[in-house]
Amino acid sequence: MTPMPYILSLDEGTTSARAALYDEAGRAVAMESAPIDCHYPHAGWVEQDAEQIWRAQLDAARRTLAKAGASPSSVVAIGITNQRETTVVWDRATGAPVAPAIVWQCRRTAEYCNELARSPQAAGIVRTTGLVIDAYFSASKIRWILETVPGARERARNGELLFGNIDTWLIWKLSNGGAHVTDPSNASRTMLMNLATGDWDDAMLQVFDVPRAMLPAIVPSSAVSGTAAPEHLGASIPIAGIAGDQQAALAGQACFRAGLSKNTYGTGCFALLHTGGRAPVSQNRLLATRAASANAHAQFAIEGSVFIAGAAIQWLRDQLGVIQTAAESEALAASVPDNGGVYFVPAFVGLGAPHWDSAARGLIGGITRATGRAHLVRAALESIAFQTAELVEAMEADSGERLSELRVDGGAAVNNFLMQFQADILGYPIVRPADVETTALGAAYLAGLATGFWKNVAEVESFWRAERRFEPGLDAPQRRRLIGEWKAAVARCRQA
Ligand code: ADP
Repeated sequence: MTPMPYILSLDEGTTSARAALYDEAGRAVAMESAPIDCHYPHAGWVEQDAEQIWRAQLDAARRTLAKAGASPSSVVAIGITNQRETTVVWDRATGAPVAPAIVWQCRRTAEYCNELARSPQAAGIVRTTGLVIDAYFSASKIRWILETVPGARERARNGELLFGNIDTWLIWKLSNGGAHVTDPSNASRTMLMNLATGDWDDAMLQVFDVPRAMLPAIVPSSAVSGTAAPEHLGASIPIAGIAGDQQAALAGQACFRAGLSKNTYGTGCFALLHTGGRAPVSQNRLLATRAASANAHAQFAIEGSVFIAGAAIQWLRDQLGVIQTAAESEALAASVPDNGGVYFVPAFVGLGAPHWDSAARGLIGGITRATGRAHLVRAALESIAFQTAELVEAMEADSGERLSELRVDGGAAVNNFLMQFQADILGYPIVRPADVETTALGAAYLAGLATGFWKNVAEVESFWRAERRFEPGLDAPQRRRLIGEWKAAVARCRQA
């Protein structure tokens, strides 16, 4: 009897490395994870150990195969998805990283980026890369390593040092140095790629003083780009899918066409709108980025993020002790008929798109003697929906199209109150899929499509199942009133 074939997905996130095994019907048959440590050597600095990331990912993958009782030779292909922007520079000969991995959250290059944003080059950088100049992206992190590690720039020029985001690093390790590659969805987050051409841009390399010799080849997101050596997982397995986590989630939500969108509700929110083969230009300071294409044609997306979403619920739980668990927030919010006039703007670290106000700070307003903890919790959940609505409004303005529905995932998307309120505020349906592990699933789709495991995008789209649909229930005047009150609260917090 021939064993069941599978696709193995490696999902390397900021706090854990996960692996999942999918069968031909697109169902997860096993999923395992291993934790990853973060280090904070100075205020605002965030580092990880690239070797630990590799070991954790390998451990999760091996345990997943063991749990499913799957033989390594039954794995047709591997798909990889990863925390984006996190930067690793290593020695080509020894494979040893020359510095700790600089995590996407790390602010050590903020001052340099602020200066760059004020320089005459700024407009060209934004136009070429589709990004907002910020320490978030890889380029200033690579530059920092090349500046601070003795001899690094010289060695990078000579091709002795290699750069990679986590996708590139894991593929290089899995292939024993055989493949030094990345995909457009990751490369578009480095601030070194020309968004339109999909190649490294010489002008950007010059701005950040990054030698081309250290950069990976940019290969399609859905194509065989390397082979995992047999000693790692027990068989030689093609690596056939690569995507950054948010673009993988877009694929996992089966959003492969222009006009489809997803929002992930986690610590923050990440909303992506697929814009098809056209490179978007944001007039509202959203990011233009590459989507993970299921074929060789370039695909694009507009992306916006909210910094504090589920984290506002965490704050009520951990700092204020108003709730014991995040899940409790649902029943508590539903126990009152409305927010009682209370608005909570969780601008703990400033406001992201479309405001981009790093000086704004959080605010809870409209409190009276009648305000109870249920109102506070309800206002926190409502803030997640209001912030998402602002992102969506900016996306619609950029794309010139009205969205028809929003597909959701992430830890806080299980909250039915939040999802219903989101539909009410947006005025169109919210759809929650049966499989909310969309990141791992998206990477699997890309690998499966590249190797014929799945025939085409239509087959993969047929796997997507709604678990629940939330229809909007507010009339337009009520919706406008609530949004108006929210906007007034945001205006107050910006003057704080
Ligand atoms: P991340 O991937 O960003 O770490 P997750 O997708 O795991 O986040 O989601 C965790 C976040 O979701 C936390 O901030 C938590 O407060 C929030 N959360 C989890 N469950 C709920 C819930 N039932 N209602 C509201 N928020 C929730």
